[in-house]
Amino acid sequence: MLPTVAIVGRPNVGKSTLFNRLVGKKLALVDDQPGVTRDRREGQAHLLGLDFTIIDTAGYEDEDPQSLPGRMRLQTQAAVENCDVALFLVDARAGVTPLDEEIARWLREGDAPVVLVANKAEGKASEGGVMEAFGLGLGEPIPFSAEHGQGLADLFQALLPHL
Ligand code: GDP
Ligand code: MG
Repeated sequence: MLPTVAIVGRPNVGKSTLFNRLVGKKLALVDDQPGVTRDRREGQAHLLGLDFTIIDTAGYEDEDPQSLPGRMRLQTQAAVENCDVALFLVDARAGVTPLDEEIARWLREGDAPVVLVANKAEGKASEGGVMEAFGLGLGEPIPFSAEHGQGLADLFQALLPHL
């Protein structure tokens, strides 16, 4: 059994882009169970020397924004329940939002080790957001770009102790 990494974060931070980058062309299963695991995708990821199962949690972009935090909480908890490490993505361009802070609180209260990733960190527009991410209380954020493949070596180093 491979170790499991769960990608969590609010909609639009780049979770699926990261998933696709790490899974590459390998088969990604679509889990069509109803409820909070709906649209959860699982794939076999490869990162430098590491192989692991990776879970992408789907967004609720099209649904009522009022119910988003509650749904995200259930989904986040379900995703991290049996994982070896949670990869918490924030958007370094947008900066830290109230929902990011709420997710950070759930993760701090939970048992799973957390690796904080400041995605969309290519270029100067992201510097403030990376600094803000320090304030989430989850350690040093890894500046990363899922779209451009930057930060892979640092992500590897951060995951290594947990896998
Ligand atoms: P998810 O909702 O968290 O799964 O986010 P997606 O992976 O669907 O990405 C949301 C948007 O952010 C898309 O338009 C992506 O192309 C964009 N995106 C993802 N990663 C990066 C990145 O590293 N840099 C930039 N600039 N955009 C990104
Ligand atoms: Mg997605």
